[in-house]
Amino acid sequence: MDHSAIESMYQRMGISREVYAFGEKIWDSLKDRWEEIDALSEYNQLKVIKAMQKNKVSEACLLGTTGYGYNDLGRETLEKVYADIFHTQDALVRPQITCGTHALALALMSNLRPGDELLSPVGKPYDTLEEVIGIRPSKGSLKEYGITYRQVDLLEDGNIDYDGIRQAVNGKTRLVTIQRSKGYQTRPTLSVQKIGELIAFIKELKSDVICMVDNCYGEFTETKEPSDVGADLVVGSLIKNPGGGLAPIGGYLAGTNECIENAAYRLTSPGLGKEVGASLQALSTFYQGLFLAPSVTANALKAAIFAANLYERLGFEVVPKGSEPRHDIIQAVTFGSPQGVIAFCQGIQQAAPVDGHVTPEPWDMPGYDSPVIMAAGAFVSGSSIELSADGPIKPPYAVYFQGGLTWQHGKLGIMNTLQKLVEKEIIMKDFDKRNL
Ligand SMILES: *Cc1c(COP(=O)(O)O)cnc(C)c1O
Repeated sequence: MDHSAIESMYQRMGISREVYAFGEKIWDSLKDRWEEIDALSEYNQLKVIKAMQKNKVSEACLLGTTGYGYNDLGRETLEKVYADIFHTQDALVRPQITCGTHALALALMSNLRPGDELLSPVGKPYDTLEEVIGIRPSKGSLKEYGITYRQVDLLEDGNIDYDGIRQAVNGKTRLVTIQRSKGYQTRPTLSVQKIGELIAFIKELKSDVICMVDNCYGEFTETKEPSDVGADLVVGSLIKNPGGGLAPIGGYLAGTNECIENAAYRLTSPGLGKEVGASLQALSTFYQGLFLAPSVTANALKAAIFAANLYERLGFEVVPKGSEPRHDIIQAVTFGSPQGVIAFCQGIQQAAPVDGHVTPEPWDMPGYDSPVIMAAGAFVSGSSIELSADGPIKPPYAVYFQGGLTWQHGKLGIMNTLQKLVEKEIIMKDFDKRNL
C-alpha cells in the first residue's frame, strides 16, 4: 500500500502534513500494543461464537415477536448466550431496559428490600445512580423505600480501603455495588483481578451478601469478566460495548438464578417475569452487535491508547497513562483550559460520519453543575461505543473520550483533535520538532 495515498486522503480531510507525520510516528510506536489487543479480541470473538454455537442460534432467533411475546425463541436463546459468555446461571437481555442507568436501577430495586443496606466500597457511584440510591433526593429512590446506603471511599492513592470496608459491612448489608470503570472520575479503573480480590474479601466478611458489578464500558476489555471472579450479578448497557454499535437500545443483567428472577419479576411483573416481553425487531441487531462487540471494543481500546500516547508525548496529563494496561475504554486528557476541551471535542465531532458538519458548543445541561460540551456524531443516538467525547467546562478542564466502531475512525478523530488544537494555537505550531 502506497502510504502517500493515505496521507493525501488525510490532507484532503484537513489534517496537515505535520499532524499526520506526528500521529503516524506515535501509531507506529504502538505495534506491540496492537498485537496484544488483537489477541484479546481474538479470544473474546471465539468466546462469543462458541456461546452462539452451543445455544444453536438459528435464523429463526433473529426474527422478532409482538404482543405478549410468549415463547420468544430469539429472546430466550440470546439470554442463554449472554449467560454462557459471562459464565452465569441466567441473564436478562431486553430492549425494554432503556439504558445503563435503568439496568442498574432494576438490579438494585429488585434485589434489595426495605430495611436492607446497599454498600459502595469503591467511592461515589456513577452520577445518575445518585438519584436511584437517593444520595440526591428523587421520587422512587431506594431511600424512599427504606433502603439505606453506605459508601467507603477509595484511599488517597486510589487503592481500596479494606479497613474501611470491614467497618462498614454490618448485619443489614445486603448488596455491594462495585463500579468497574472510572466513569467520569479520575480514579483508576478496576481490573477484573482487583474486583475478584475485593469480592473475596467481602464474601469472607459476609457470605450471603450479593456482589454486583456495574460493568459499563468494561465488557470485552479483558478475557475475563467480573462474573468469572465471583460477582453474583453484572450489569451494563447495550449502547456501549456489548451492543457492538448495532443495538439501538437495551440493557443486560447476567447473574445467579435468584438475582435474575428478582430482576425479571420487577421488570415485567411478579408471576410473569421472563416469560413476557416481545422483542419486536431488536434481536438481529442484538445478536449481530454481540458478535461484533469484541472487535469493536478492541477498536475503541486502540483509539484510547493512541490518544493517551499522543497527548502524553505532548506533555498533557492523561488517565490512564499511555503504557498502562486497560480495563475500560474511557480515556481522560487534561488540557487545563476551556479552549483545549472545546477544540478537542470539535475535532472529534468534525471527524464523525454523521453530523460531521455540526460544531458543538458548551451548554448548561440539566443535572450538571457547569456547562458541558459533547461531541457525538453517532448512528445510534447517544451511543458511546461510537467515537464520542465530553468535557465539563470546569477545572482541571479534562476531556473524557471513548469509543470508535473502527480504529481507522478513532485514529482520524484523534488526529483531527490535534489539528484543531494546533490551528487554535493551543498547541504550538512547532510541536513536532519539540516532541519528536
Ligand atoms: C454509562 C454508564 C452508566 C449509565 O448508563 P446510561 O446508559 O448512560 O444510563 C452507569 N455506570 C457507568 C460506569 C457508565 O459508564
